[in-house]
Amino acid sequence: MEKSLQQKLLRGQFGNVDSGHSGRMRQIRSKGNRSTEVRFRAMLIRAGVCGWRMHPKGVPGKPDFFFEACQVAVFVDGCYWHGCPKCSHTVRVNSPYWEAKIKGNQRRDRKNGRLMYRQGLRVLRIWEHQIAGEPGRCIERLRRMLMAR
Ligand SMILES: [Zn+2]
Repeated sequence: MEKSLQQKLLRGQFGNVDSGHSGRMRQIRSKGNRSTEVRFRAMLIRAGVCGWRMHPKGVPGKPDFFFEACQVAVFVDGCYWHGCPKCSHTVRVNSPYWEAKIKGNQRRDRKNGRLMYRQGLRVLRIWEHQIAGEPGRCIERLRRMLMAR
């Protein structure tokens, strides 16, 4: 790790990390999320599931997929960026910088979860490893949730 970055981290000034670095970080993060989303989107289309929108404004946390008629919000979370409990032992967090970012994501996920619960939305969170490993089950869980109301 760069020495200057390390010093900033040690002082806990994450907000001051130079823009070049955080720009790169954003790029990696959005790319990682997008590939999981694209995959799930293709699964929905293949399964003939419709009635969803992506990232609707005005819904807390802008869910990756939102089924307005059923008030169901679906998040497809990258295992690394959202700190998946199952994969965290295999995915190595290799710097305090990334670790702080992941912790921040988890905090935000919890906060949005509470907001959505208060608005009466039902939330389905699907991990990246579930989409990769058991896609059929993910769609099944979603279908059950959509039909529950
Ligand atoms: Zn995982």
